Amino acid sequence: MHVDVLARVQEIYAEVLRRNPGEKEFHQAVREVLESLAVVLGRHSEYTEMKTIERICEPERQIIFRVPWQDDSGEVHINRGFRVEFNSALGPYKGGLRFHPSVNLGIVKFLGFEQIFKNALTGMPIGGGKGGSDFDPKGRSDAEVMRFCQSFMTELYRHLGEYTDVPAGDIGVGAREIGFLFGQYKRITNRYESGVLTGKGLGWGGALVRTEATGYGAAFFADEMMRARGESFDGRRFVISGSGNVAVYGIEKVHQLGGTVVACSDSSGYVVDEKGIDLDVLKQVKEHERGRISEYADRVGTAHFVSRGSIWDVPCEVAMPSATQNELDGEAARTLARNGCQYVVEGANMPTTPDAVALFRAAGIGFAPGKAANAGGVATSALEMQQNASRDRWSFEQSEAKLEEIMRGIHARCHETAEEYGTPGDLVLGANVAGFLQVAEAVHAHGLI
Ligand code: GLU
Repeated sequence: MHVDVLARVQEIYAEVLRRNPGEKEFHQAVREVLESLAVVLGRHSEYTEMKTIERICEPERQIIFRVPWQDDSGEVHINRGFRVEFNSALGPYKGGLRFHPSVNLGIVKFLGFEQIFKNALTGMPIGGGKGGSDFDPKGRSDAEVMRFCQSFMTELYRHLGEYTDVPAGDIGVGAREIGFLFGQYKRITNRYESGVLTGKGLGWGGALVRTEATGYGAAFFADEMMRARGESFDGRRFVISGSGNVAVYGIEKVHQLGGTVVACSDSSGYVVDEKGIDLDVLKQVKEHERGRISEYADRVGTAHFVSRGSIWDVPCEVAMPSATQNELDGEAARTLARNGCQYVVEGANMPTTPDAVALFRAAGIGFAPGKAANAGGVATSALEMQQNASRDRWSFEQSEAKLEEIMRGIHARCHETAEEYGTPGDLVLGANVAGFLQVAEAVHAHGLI
């Protein structure tokens, strides 16, 4: 490759490091994308002249605000709220809100940056953004969560709108939180603006399949990836980390498509069930009771709970990390490879560390990056916006068929782009380049803004 192009990419990365000190997850996400983009600069000199990559690495707007609230005993708490409006070249900023104690500006920026390319890959008219708070919903009552959401929205509402910025859920934000946020937005603005949030309840503007979409989508993507190699899910062993929304519906779809998921986890440990995870029990424990994963093993005779070690010690042919960022490191990758793992499909955002990704790629293990494989959630959010805009409601079957078509389309684009750029089978490069080109063309067309 041309030395000038590589040097240019290195300069851009050095500037990102200088300007965003200490934001290591953001650096990691940018680096991975930039490593794929040298090949693009070699073909598109206009993106060098117009500093298109530099502009995409700089958020259009970053909002940080105080969120004060009172708990049930009357004690006052102060949290920090964030919304990073990263890129609106393709549509209104779109991306979830994460409520978790680990949330800081660097985490929100990494997620927002990933979201730009993920959203572009869906082919839907949505820009990229992300937000959240270091609020910890764990152990909080419904009333406390409501007061927090109301305080959060009391600041955030002025930055939102169905044509401006449309949040949804992420870790710690589900239908309950979206309900409280929507209620407060409606109260302040005096507008029943359905399209301002997605992931709404089914009775008040929500869309069928949105809940299932990220997990289902990741399973469709895995299926398509295996088909490309002439293989199928039939009788295959899967391990899916996590037990939140992505993992639960990932398990459901893998089982429907003929695979068996033998392990899942939460922050306290993991369960192994050789018979295949019993979804009714898992949903009861995690969705209805908001309990711990060990309770699954208490109720299912064939299962056991492991509180130490790593879920990636469990042998499988397909691994779907679906919990959180950097949960699968180099050591786990070596164990997976040694145990015969053939595919890794990211259900979460950036769950695999760079050394683990490098190991999978070198070993010829099929690797699907999150920005492609987990795009089903946000794609279905865009379908929800479409239904809200036309005051329509689609059936489950129609929505699921659309999701499946979108996921298979994303795989095709990543696959073809990798071939076009001389790295067949490299879905990391395919996703980064295909996503970037879609965004860059629009950025370029809009002039220097
Ligand atoms: N938080 C999800 C994601 O990481 C969904 C975002 C959305 O639906 O806007 O893509």
